[in-house]
Amino acid sequence: MLSKKMEKALNEQINKEMFSAYIYLSMATFLAEKRYDGMASFMQVQAQEELEHAMKIYGFVEERGGRVLLDAIAKPDSDFQNPLKVFETALGHEKFISKSINDLVDLAIAEKDHATKEFLAWFVKEQVEEEANMDRIVGQMQMIGDHGHGLFMLDRHLGERKAD
Ligand code: MG
Repeated sequence: MLSKKMEKALNEQINKEMFSAYIYLSMATFLAEKRYDGMASFMQVQAQEELEHAMKIYGFVEERGGRVLLDAIAKPDSDFQNPLKVFETALGHEKFISKSINDLVDLAIAEKDHATKEFLAWFVKEQVEEEANMDRIVGQMQMIGDHGHGLFMLDRHLGERKAD
């Protein structure tokens, strides 16, 4: 069984993952409007992954005899200025999510909840990857600056990302 504290914290994480999907979808619409169709598609795949993260936790809470309680999803930003700002915002958001996962692990340890700690190990690894991906793209965009050709090539490259 999950402790009430752990259950509440996992429910909050479900909300954060749903919000992640929401913010990446919002980035996708912003990018599509600016005709960065490859980056928009990349963000749609990212949003899909976030929904899967939410559902993974949802399944775990139920499996452990807890109750999933859904809360309102906050309104995401809709104006990101330019592609560099989009990916900088994404990187900042992933750092926030990593901290949130770390806090969950801390709580699982404090509650002596080994099953939850073990479950969260996947998310700890996933966050290393998420931060590295976004950081790499931010670096590439800084390198390109506002050179249209470079942005066009990167847009095409990012559009090749497929759902896992
Ligand atoms: Mg996630």
